[in-house]
Formats: sequence, structure tokens, C-alpha cells
Amino acid sequence: MALREGALRLNVLVRSRHFYKLTSLGGGVRSLTEKVSSKQVKSSAPETAADHLIYTQEHFALKESLRKLIDQEINPYVDQWEAEGKFPAHKIFKILGNAGFLGVNKPVEYGGLGLDFSFSVAVAEELGNIRCGGIPMAIGVQTDMTTPALARFGSDELKREFLLPSISGDKVACLGVSEVGAGSDVSSIKTKAVRKGDEYVINGGKMWTTSGTQADWMCLLANTSDGHFLQKSTICDSFPRVHIARKIDKLGMWSSDTAEVFFDDVHVPCKNVIGQEGMGFTYQMLQFQEERLWAVANILTTMDNVIQETIQYTRQRKIFKQPVLHHQAVHFRLAELQTEVELLRSLLYRATALYIKGNDVTKLASMAKLKGGRLAREVGDSCLQYWGGMGYTSDVLVSRFYRDSRLMSIGAGADEVMLGIICKYMDTLPGKSCNER
Ligand SMILES: Cc1cc2nc3c(=O)[nH]c(=O)nc-3n(C[C@H](O)[C@H](O)[C@H](O)COP(=O)(O)OP(=O)(O)OC[C@H]3O[C@@H](n4cnc5c(N)ncnc54)[C@H](O)[C@@H]3O)c2cc1C
Repeated sequence: MALREGALRLNVLVRSRHFYKLTSLGGGVRSLTEKVSSKQVKSSAPETAADHLIYTQEHFALKESLRKLIDQEINPYVDQWEAEGKFPAHKIFKILGNAGFLGVNKPVEYGGLGLDFSFSVAVAEELGNIRCGGIPMAIGVQTDMTTPALARFGSDELKREFLLPSISGDKVACLGVSEVGAGSDVSSIKTKAVRKGDEYVINGGKMWTTSGTQADWMCLLANTSDGHFLQKSTICDSFPRVHIARKIDKLGMWSSDTAEVFFDDVHVPCKNVIGQEGMGFTYQMLQFQEERLWAVANILTTMDNVIQETIQYTRQRKIFKQPVLHHQAVHFRLAELQTEVELLRSLLYRATALYIKGNDVTKLASMAKLKGGRLAREVGDSCLQYWGGMGYTSDVLVSRFYRDSRLMSIGAGADEVMLGIICKYMDTLPGKSCNER
């Protein structure tokens, strides 16, 4: 019923002025590489709702509308933002928020579209057409990492203050889980929130905070009492009160700013705790299924694009009097990679279909995340090779993907953490409960 209402709302939005309209793009002089790398590529996924395992016409309408927005408002500026080490999150989130893309599966009362998670997967897939990893990552942090627990367990007051403006794109959110001494092992975070009257006083620091130099608020995991897992709470913290120590220089994801932040006696009202005090760790674990499927959906599209652009490039680039692509080693390898991409897509759709029916898909989501990280490394490495020296330059998608996608095996649960979870579900992990991210 809720899904039907959401779909109806989506239909109305698609037909209304809220959904993005394509206007003509200005042309310009382009280099050979730009010509090759910016050509529209054809995804190998089924293109119509009739053929698709999980998408309806509404999913396709949503994707098409987002694609237009990406082509007009984001992709023309990606190179500039990559060079600047930051994209204008407030501007881009406002555009996405106005068009409804920051809350597809969030409650309608707070500005969301109230649709099921398969629509988030569709959005994540389409965001993979952005010509860098940093901007989709920051959008994913906003939609599927900082706000799920708030949407599910937060009070109405908290949702009005933080969720609603995050869905409309008026506020940029960041996630404060990882610390200098705690990444994979979330349970060992040290940041403390000590209750004093009706406030918490927060001390500590967070590391690797995506959008940290631009954010208006943080979804913060902190220790609110002694104990082990039940000591942690998720707190919404307005950001101007924290100290941004530095913007971190990174191997990839250049257009996404990453900060280290400190809390030095930061006062936050106790009512800013999401849900129940002490449940923060559990809430964090609950949203990992969605977070990981989102990441897989997103990187699948970029892998498709990288393979397609490599086909285009190697078809026109001649060595020893024939196209690079005509060498069997090259077209066979690209066929292998595309096969692996299709296998991963099947796993993603299966996990998503099961998840929206209410099943626990932790094992499948972990498998997909593991495979996504490893396959991205293979696709990036193999495709870059076939571009020769051009692949080693900064201005082609494949080299950006090679750098950006390395994070997939580290962030939001490293490959080894995924293996641990899978082993736990296979009952092969000797005497260990899975409490790692
Ligand atoms: C660009 C970027 C953006 C990020 N954005 C955010 C953000 O917005 N908010 C946030 O909270 N965090 C963020 N992170 C942090 C990210 O989630 C962590 O980097 C990740 O969880 C790994 O933690 P760590 O870096 O501390 O590595 P560690 O925990 O020190 O792990 C190091 C390595 O140990 C290995 N390892 C881990 N567990 C096991 C195991 N069980 N068995 C064997 N080996 C193992 C893995 O190879 C792992 O890479 C971001 C990180 C980066 C790089």
C-alpha cells in the first residue's frame, strides 16, 4: 500500500515541474580523449521495465530524470571540482533535493518520496554516471549513511530539524563513526558524550569525515556510558561548534572533501539522541545492508562505463596496423570483466528483491560488497592497461576510476570484514561474533 502511494507520488512528480527537465547543452572544443571519454555509453542491463527483474516504469522514469540532471548540472563541472578538491555540496544537494532525489525511500511527511529501497538502488545506479567517485559517495553519505537511523528511530522534532532539510537539500550531513584509532572495529571508538543536566558534553575526534568541511550537521556515534556495545548512541550534532582540524589529501575521490574533526567540550541537547540511548551501535549495524547495496549499485554503472569507453578507445586506437581491441587478449579480457559485472548485477538485484520483501540480506549484501570492491580493482587495472599512456593521464575516466574505486575494498567495511561476516553466516568463523563494520 505504502509502495503504491509512493509510486503514485512519484508519477505525479515525474509529470510535474519538480522533476528535472533537460535543456540543451552547450558544445565546445574538445580534445581527442574528451571525445572518447564523454560519449554516451550503453549499459548492458535491460533497458525496459518489461525485461527488468526489479525495476518498474517508475524506476526508469526516475533514472532518466536523474540522468538529465547529472548531464547538465554535474558532469560539465566534475573536472573543475576534482582539481579544486571539493564540489559545492550545498548547491548540488539543493538541486538534487528540489528534484526529489535525496529522499526516495524516506517518509513523505519529511519530504521524501516514501518508496521502497529498490528506488534507492536505481538512484545509486544512475549516480554511477557521474564522472568521478567523490560526488556519488558524498550523495550516498547524505541519503543512505547519515539519515537512515534518523528516519527510522528519530523523534519528530529531530526529524524536522535534521532529516527534512537533508532531504530538501538545505543541509549537508556528514557521518561521524570512524576515528583515528577505530575504523573496522567500530566498537572501539573513544569519543565520549557525558550527560550533564539536559545536555551531553562531547569530547573526542572523528576521522575520514566525508563532506566534513562543508557539513551543517553530523550523525555522530559516541559513547554515552560505560560498557561495551550498549554504551554507544547516535547523536545529531549541529556542526559549527566542532573544530575542523584538517582537510585530508587522498589518493582518489578528490571532489569529495574529507576532514578530521575534533570535539572539545561541545554541548548538545540530550533530545538530540536518535531513538534510544545506548542503541547507536545497533542502529549503525542495521543500516549497513542498505549502505553496502547502495555502494555496489553505484559502482556497477561506473564499471559498465569504464568497460564501454575502453571498447570505444581500443577500437579506434591502432597498434601494429590493427585496433588494440582486435587483439584476442584484449577483447577476451573485456568479455570476462563484463561477465563478472553481470554476475554482480544479478546478486545485487536478488539481494534487493529479497530485502524489500523484508528479508535479512546481510550475507548477500556483504558478498556483493566484497565482490564489488575486488571487481572494481580488476576492471580499473585491466582497462587502464589497454589505454596505454593515455590511461596514465589524469583526464580520462579510467584513471580516475582506478584511483577512486580503490576505496571500495576499504571503506564501509573492508574486504576482510566482509569475509568475516560471510564466514559468520556460513558458521565457519571460530568463536567470533561479527561486530565489525
Ligand atoms: C575517502 C574516505 C571517506 C570516508 N568517509 C567516512 C565517513 O564519512 N564517515 C566515517 O565514519 N568513516 C568514513 N571513512 C572511514 C572508513 O569507513 C574506514 O577507513 C574503514 O572502515 C576502515 O577503517 P580504517 O581506515 O581505520 O582501517 P583499519 O580498521 O585500521 O583496518 C586496516 C586494514 O585491516 C584489515 N582488516 C580489517 N579487519 C580485518 C579482519 N577482521 N581480519 C583481517 N584483516 C582485517 C583491512 O585490510 C583493513 O583495510 C572514510 C574513509 C575514506 C578513506
